[in-house]
Amino acid sequence: MNNLNPGTIWAEALSSIAEDIGQDNLDLWLKPVEAVKIEDKVLFVKLPNKYFLEHIKKHYQPKIEAAIKVQTGLDIALDYSVSRDLHDDHPRVEPLEEVRPQSEFKPSELNPKYTFDTFVVGISNRLAHATAEAIAKNPATRYNPFFVYGGVGLGKTHLMHAIGHAMRKEHPHARVLYTSSEQFVNKFIKSLADKTPDAFRNKYRHLDCLLLDDVQFLLAKGHSEEEFFHTFNALFDSRKQIVITSDRAPKELAPFDERLISRLGWGQVVDIKPPDLETRLAILRKKVEMEQIYVPDDVMLFVASSLKTNIRHLESALIRLIAFVSCTGNPITVDAAKDLLKDSVDTDTKTAVRIETIQQIIAEKYSVEVKDLKSKSRMSEIVFPRQLAMYLSCTLTEFSTPEIGKTFGGRDHATVIHARNKIKEMIERDPFFLEVVNRLIEQIKSVENS
Ligand code: ADP
Ligand code: MG
Repeated sequence: MNNLNPGTIWAEALSSIAEDIGQDNLDLWLKPVEAVKIEDKVLFVKLPNKYFLEHIKKHYQPKIEAAIKVQTGLDIALDYSVSRDLHDDHPRVEPLEEVRPQSEFKPSELNPKYTFDTFVVGISNRLAHATAEAIAKNPATRYNPFFVYGGVGLGKTHLMHAIGHAMRKEHPHARVLYTSSEQFVNKFIKSLADKTPDAFRNKYRHLDCLLLDDVQFLLAKGHSEEEFFHTFNALFDSRKQIVITSDRAPKELAPFDERLISRLGWGQVVDIKPPDLETRLAILRKKVEMEQIYVPDDVMLFVASSLKTNIRHLESALIRLIAFVSCTGNPITVDAAKDLLKDSVDTDTKTAVRIETIQQIIAEKYSVEVKDLKSKSRMSEIVFPRQLAMYLSCTLTEFSTPEIGKTFGGRDHATVIHARNKIKEMIERDPFFLEVVNRLIEQIKSVENS
C-alpha cells in the first residue's frame, strides 16, 4: 500500500479496537495521542506524558498493531515520543476519591413537574411525604436508607424526584443521582462489556445521594443485584443517603440476597397506599388548577370515585375530559364523563389487584398457608390452590408471567403458564368451578377496593 497517512491509519485502528477496549478507555488513553509519521514500517506517535507510555505499551500496543496489520496488510510497529510542551496538561485520570462535578449528574433526569409543591398530601402518603422532606433537608441522618413501597401510580417516583430537586436546591454541591433500576442494570452490564466497571463503581459508590427507583427490577439479575449490594454498602458505610422505591415490601423481595433484604429495612420503611376519596379529589383539583380549566364539581366527584387505585389513571382521565371540553366547547357532564371513561374505569380495577391479596384469599379459602403457595411442595392439596392463585394473578394483575413466578417462591414463567392453561381448561369444562372462580374474583376485588 502506497501513500500511508499516519493520521488515517491511527484513526482507523482506534475505531476498529473501540468496541474491544471500550469508549471510556479509548477517550482516556488513545484520543489524546497524535500520530506523527510513518517511516520504515514504524508509526511514530506523540504522547501527552510519560504515564501514557507505560499504559499504552502494556494494554493497547499489540491490539493496535494487529488492527493496523488487518487494515494495511503490513507489519507496522508503534514507536513513541513524549511531548514536553504538554507537560501541564494532565490526562483525565480520575483518582478514586476525586470529587466529581455536580454537572455530571444531570438535573434533566428529574421531571420538573415532580416536586414537593405539586405533591398532594393525604393519609395514604403522609408519612412517606414527611420523611422525604426531612431527608431533603438533612440527608443521611435519621432516615437511611429510606425505603418506599406501594402499588403502581401512587407517587413513588414523584416523591423521589421531589427529594432530588429539593436536595439540589438546598445542597447544590451534593452529588445526587436518580436512576431507575433498569438503567442501573443496563449501565452496569455495558461497563462490563466495555471493560470499565471501575468507572461505573467510581461513579455509583461515590455519591452523596442515590435515588434508585423500582428496585424489584433487580430481582434475579445476578451480577447486577450483587453490584447493587456493594454499591449500597459503600454508600451506607460512608454515611450517604440512599432512597429506594419498590412495588413490594423488603421481605417480599425474595429471592434477593437475605443480607440485602435485611439492610433495605435498616432505616425507614414506609408504604404508600391508594389515596382515599378526599385525597383523590384534592389531586384532581390541583391538576385542574394547574391546567387552568373548568370541570364541574359533580364530574370531579364522579372521576375521583371511579378511579381509585392509580393516580396516573386519574390524570389520564382528566386529560381525556380536557380534550373533550376543548373539542366540543361544551362543559362536561357526568353522563359524558361516564361514557368517555368507560375503559379507564375497567383498567383501574384491573391494576388494583395485588398478588399478595390473591395469595391470602386463596390460602384462606383452601385452608393452606401463604408460605405453602410459595413452597416447592407437590402435594395435591397445595398444588391446586397454587395453580389457581397463579391463574388469578395472570388474569387480575398486570404482572408478567416471570414476575408472577417470582412471587410464588421463584418459579419460572413456564410453570405459571402451565398453571394458567390448566385452570383455564377446568373453567371451560366445569360451570360450577367457573362460579367458584367468579366468587373469588369478586372477593379479591372487594378487598382491594375497600
Ligand atoms: P409510581 O412511581 O408510584 O408508579 P408516579 O410517581 O409515577 O407513581 O405517579 C404517577 C402519576 O401520579 C404522576 O404523574 C404523579 O405526578 C401523580 N401523583 C402521584 N401521587 C401524587 C400526589 N400525591 N399528588 C399529586 N400527583 C401525584
Ligand atoms: Mg415509579
